Amino acid sequence: MDKKSTQSENYFVLEEEKTLNWSEVQNAFEKSFGKEIYSSWLSNITLLKEYNDYLVLGVPTRFFRDWIVSRYLDKILQQIKSFKLSLIRVEFKILEDAKSAIIENVKNKDINLVSEIKDSILNYNRLNPNLNFDNFVKGASNEIALTSSKKVCEQTNRYNPLYIYGGVGLGKTHLLNAIGLELKKKTNVMFISTERFMYHFIKSIKKNDMVNFKDFFRKSSVFIIDDIQFISGKEGLQEEFFHTFNSLIEKSSQIIVSADRPPSKLDRVQERIKSRLSGGLIVDIDNPDLELKIKIIKKRINDNQDQFGEKYNISDDVINFIANECKTNIRGLIGILNRVITFGRIHKKTLSTNDCKNILKDVFSQARIITVDKIQNTVSGFFNISLNEMLSQRRSRPLARPRQIAMYLSKKLTTRSLPEIGRRFANRDHTTVIHAVKTITKLLQENEEMSKNINQITSLLLKE
Ligand code: ADP
Ligand code: MG
Repeated sequence: MDKKSTQSENYFVLEEEKTLNWSEVQNAFEKSFGKEIYSSWLSNITLLKEYNDYLVLGVPTRFFRDWIVSRYLDKILQQIKSFKLSLIRVEFKILEDAKSAIIENVKNKDINLVSEIKDSILNYNRLNPNLNFDNFVKGASNEIALTSSKKVCEQTNRYNPLYIYGGVGLGKTHLLNAIGLELKKKTNVMFISTERFMYHFIKSIKKNDMVNFKDFFRKSSVFIIDDIQFISGKEGLQEEFFHTFNSLIEKSSQIIVSADRPPSKLDRVQERIKSRLSGGLIVDIDNPDLELKIKIIKKRINDNQDQFGEKYNISDDVINFIANECKTNIRGLIGILNRVITFGRIHKKTLSTNDCKNILKDVFSQARIITVDKIQNTVSGFFNISLNEMLSQRRSRPLARPRQIAMYLSKKLTTRSLPEIGRRFANRDHTTVIHAVKTITKLLQENEEMSKNINQITSLLLKE
């Protein structure tokens, strides 16, 4: 791979880091929540850190946080998501604590360390306390992965590296995180996504600070790296990863890796890395069977009830219905369950299977397999243009609009990421896809014809 294309991939990450304009988001809050709620609550939220798929938001006090989370979280997420499509969650940091921590540090004359420590903790060790072994439900599809993960915690270095692979939303990150939480009790743990690893790598090159980077990543006793498939095609990063890997193994640090496929199937990854990754234990997580899905639903309901001190009336019929209908992954399953719970809570009623069918109509129909190819064919057919024209670089509106509609639908109806969608549209950049999604979203609100077209195309897609 030549230098130039590595560079553009690098920029891609950096750009993603600062896409959000917080005052724009605040304006949207004010519009959707109304002046009163906005000025008493939401106007006090500040943006502290932005990552690819989550945000750290600052709030003044603990009480403030609990209030916001219990009442407005869903809507807040939804609002921010309209500006930042990749968002999965937000995390609240209580500034009162932070302030006193800093004051404490200043007292201890550690002034110089403050920003660095803060930075490094936030950036490198984002372990989520809610993803632990206790709430990971065992099933036939994940049993071996779970047992191996626990074994690694009891006895490090027995399998090195431990390599866990499986499709999207099946629990890889959850397991890695659980291992991190467990091992953190006895030793120092580094937990990082491959994307973050890359981000720091690039930042260090730019700042001419590779020495620090190497030191930092090589000193951990446990090194956990999530989604290693993203290393694909990034030569410089692979080089660095290879050396990091070797020096960790040399000093007997435990390495745990996840990916969406086995090492041998990793695309555009150096052979020597694949061989290193295959040198320990490789385990996979498969799609959940019905029994596991039901167990997960029941556990989530129980945990939620305990946590919020509420009682949800969700019958076994409804549970079976969700488990049966949800053909996607566990992440999808939980999303659907949350929707049902929220609906039941708002309407204060015991839901029937029929209610669920209604609530979830769009979800289930979208879950039928709709691919980017299918969308491209349907959209070009609908507008009576050829597929080649639609994918071409020409910018005239009769071609550009359908192209944008097809990108928009690909984002809405498939699970492909923005860069993946871009690639399928004659190798366009992900920012082009973002722009398309924004444009069509806006047009949908203003323009009746657009929503008619989108509805018609969607029903064509869902028909087969
Ligand atoms: P992946 O990293 O494989 O894409 P995640 O670990 O992010 O998947 O899992 C997606 C969601 O499903 C998370 O909310 C996770 O907590 C949940 N999940 C996955 N497997 C299980 C399980 N066996 N028990 C409980 N929750 C699970
Ligand atoms: Mg994951």
